[in-house]
Amino acid sequence: MKVLGLESSCDETGVAIYDSEHGLLADALYSQIGLHSEFGGVVPELASRDHVRKLLPLVNEVFEKAGITGADLDGVAFTSGPGLAGALMVGACAGRAMAYAWGVPAIGVHHMEGHLLAPMLEETPPAFPFIALLVSGGHTQLVRVDGVGQYAILGESLDDAAGEAFDKAAKMLELPYPGGPQLAKLAESGDLSRFTFPRPMVNRPGLDFSFSGLKTFTLNTIADCRGEGELSAVDRADIAAAFQEAVVDTLSIKCLRALKQEGLTRLVMAGGVSANRVLRARLAEKLSAMGGEVYYPRPEYCTDNGAMIAYAGFCRLQAGQQDELGIAVRPRWPMDQLPALA
Ligand code: ATP
Ligand code: MG
Ligand code: FE
Repeated sequence: MKVLGLESSCDETGVAIYDSEHGLLADALYSQIGLHSEFGGVVPELASRDHVRKLLPLVNEVFEKAGITGADLDGVAFTSGPGLAGALMVGACAGRAMAYAWGVPAIGVHHMEGHLLAPMLEETPPAFPFIALLVSGGHTQLVRVDGVGQYAILGESLDDAAGEAFDKAAKMLELPYPGGPQLAKLAESGDLSRFTFPRPMVNRPGLDFSFSGLKTFTLNTIADCRGEGELSAVDRADIAAAFQEAVVDTLSIKCLRALKQEGLTRLVMAGGVSANRVLRARLAEKLSAMGGEVYYPRPEYCTDNGAMIAYAGFCRLQAGQQDELGIAVRPRWPMDQLPALA
């Protein structure tokens, strides 16, 4: 079964073709980072317009790379939520129309289910059940996963998502948008013994998170270091390292707590922040110490991409699910409302 996947929920246009026999046939991605960087964040209207410009050229590119045409497809999957309404509409309209033209079924995919299933594209995919840590620009969730569509949300952030916190701290350190990966780079040369940032909510029972306090702590630390002058390169690196350590430590503590609570030993990480090398290494170390295993997507499939949407769409289409002819997007869409596979 060959499925075309389209991702356009935010500021990346991603297109890929997944084949159940041969795996991924082709994958193309266009990031709008350059477009939005001068505004310090994603401008929804500009995002939609850029998806309109880039989507069809990328579709043509993956067909060429895969050496197939629309006539060879068995289905089309597109992200139908959550995300920016206008941006989602671009992928949904294009995907629904192409499926209609080729006479194949179409399916709207939940963006976070896409992230969650991305590790299934790796050589050693995780077996169900497992705990998933979804850490991205808009979400921080711990989910018990018993199968595709069988999701119990065990905890989530009460305020900022982990990726959002990375981006905001990076902005305070005057790093260009989106700063998460750049903050991580800067942290490599930082001295971890200089500052200790708080680990929000770890001393309370439960699996929820809160990252907005870390923002204030970062701001105050910057102000203390700066005094009357400029922040030195050493100060910036030390603050970046302490911030990253606090986020990584907090996420790790809650992951272990979730595994223990549910009596599981498999952990899956997905979403942009799961590309963070320190977080990956820390969780690998903790899981190995408890005789468990950790799974994550290759770094390019941690952030938004078409491959994860093609794969999630394949899982649902193969089970006989498909969308009606109308086009609907769901900018807000709780993941635990998804149907399980029959
Ligand atoms: P969502 O998936 O919740 O809708 P999104 O699609 O914008 O949000 P992703 O593309 O999954 O989010 O991830 C982007 C986020 O990941 C950004 O906040 C970015 O800073 C963060 N990120 C990416 N790489 C790293 C890294 N190495 N370290 C820390 N954060 C990172
Ligand atoms: Mg993005
Ligand atoms: Fe995402």
